[in-house]
Amino acid sequence: MEMLKSTDLTRETASQTAQNEVVLNAAYINGDWVTIEAPAPDTGIDTDNAGSNKTNNHALYDPNSGEVIATTRLCTSAHVAQAVEAADAAFASWSQTAVSERAHYLNAIADSMEQQFDKLVGLSVLNNGKPIEEAKIDVSDAIACYRYYANIIIKQATLSEVLTNEPAVRLLKTYAPVGICALITPWNFPMVTTAWKLAPALAAGCTVLLKPSEVTLLPELMLGNILSEIGLPKGVVNILPGAAEVGAAMTSHPLIDKVSFTGSNVVGEKVMTQAARGIKDISLELGGKSAIVVCANADIDYACDLIIGGIFANAGQICSATSRLLVHQDIAEQLYETLKVKTTSLQIGDGFAADTLMGPLVSEQQLNQVKKYFDIATAEHLDCLTGGELVNGSGYFAMPTVYTDVPTTSQLWKEEVFGPVLVSTTFTDDAEAVRLANDSKFALAATIVSTDETAALEMALQIKAGHIWINEQQIVLPEAGWGGFKQSGIGRELGGDGLSAYQKSKHVLLPY
Ligand code: NAD
Repeated sequence: MEMLKSTDLTRETASQTAQNEVVLNAAYINGDWVTIEAPAPDTGIDTDNAGSNKTNNHALYDPNSGEVIATTRLCTSAHVAQAVEAADAAFASWSQTAVSERAHYLNAIADSMEQQFDKLVGLSVLNNGKPIEEAKIDVSDAIACYRYYANIIIKQATLSEVLTNEPAVRLLKTYAPVGICALITPWNFPMVTTAWKLAPALAAGCTVLLKPSEVTLLPELMLGNILSEIGLPKGVVNILPGAAEVGAAMTSHPLIDKVSFTGSNVVGEKVMTQAARGIKDISLELGGKSAIVVCANADIDYACDLIIGGIFANAGQICSATSRLLVHQDIAEQLYETLKVKTTSLQIGDGFAADTLMGPLVSEQQLNQVKKYFDIATAEHLDCLTGGELVNGSGYFAMPTVYTDVPTTSQLWKEEVFGPVLVSTTFTDDAEAVRLANDSKFALAATIVSTDETAALEMALQIKAGHIWINEQQIVLPEAGWGGFKQSGIGRELGGDGLSAYQKSKHVLLPY
């Protein structure tokens, strides 16, 4: 991925952007910022960010310090009704626009993001806590995604002939936008998970309601400014800063045709139930418990770099985190030694510090979730190679953690922690490695480390996962479809499959 400008960012510059440029207490509906009314006077700020519907006041935090950086108001279901009306009104003309016009707007979003690259990176570091270098990759990935769909939509034939064995008739095929879409995203990759949905939806000719995570609104709300600036027709994209109540109202609204959700399995099940009413089209990108397999012939030093990248990037808050290590028993002892040295020397700290390699968790809630698993590991008497506790002091920091010889019956083996916690076990041959890798209710991704490419490819074919890296870090190209098997979700984002998720094919049959 091409990296854009080098950044010279500080918390102060990012805070200034947050204060001066992010529109708070408003939803972006029908091309305008619509003020969200203040709650009744006796209600306070939702400081535990529980998404309560008793108050619409909501705090945004700096995960590095745990301090409130901004307060805003969250939408209600009344805003959803307003936004659906706008998206419905816009659909008739937007769905008929020339693909070149849609491509123009997608490129314009990418251009604007490039111009505001430093600001977007800064807001992401400030609100999410991730190190600057990781936030730069995120913004670059989002830009690449808008450009990718601008490029492929103009190449898709408007009307093509389908070959048949029937000589007397002609069969033609075209694609139509699925309709009005409800897009709901999590907090772990602000702007990226949004781009993966919004870019193909716009390319296809859909109009949308977008609900970014209420936890990382600062970077996500900048999109409203960008859409205003590029003059996207009113109502095509409506952005609703809201929590569960708003998500539920979106996914159950009768005029919504398609729901695309990225988030946890617990919420994913609710979304699927909500979307069942009226038989809405649905895509779900859910959790993972992916394996990294290190074969006996692997270079141990390089394998450790891949292990660390796979579990400690974004403090482990990655759906495709390779959180289960399977290492060949012949090299396990040596690998654990190297892994311990590398893990304990990882610089943990403020995302704005140049030497930080792992930042805090995103929220107190996420910190408590990781703490819960540390306590379970203690109760289960797991062998802790390193870490296993929270970092004392301010902010939401947990130690990068590795448990060894973890039984497959352990809760930590089975459940998604969504933090910097690796569980490992050993295997004796490739067949056992495949069996262990597939021993999960999830099946999103996997990594294989081996110097035998043929054997690694053979293993890749047998591991159930939507994306497999061999001797590579977790690179996700816009051309590659993204999604899992089993309980990791339904459907694919990115690539041609990602566009198909927002289109329905139509066939026309006529005589020759
Ligand atoms: P979450 O499920 O708590 O929230 C996701 C979104 O759903 C948020 O915007 C939230 O406000 C909204 N929401 C909550 N209740 C809702 C309801 N009843 N109806 C509709 N929307 C509702 O997830 P999270 O904590 O933000 O993100 C972490 C999870 O996301 C992890 O499980 C991770 O694996 C998953 N994830 C998956 C992928 C993927 O591509 N498979 C990518 C990123 C994250």
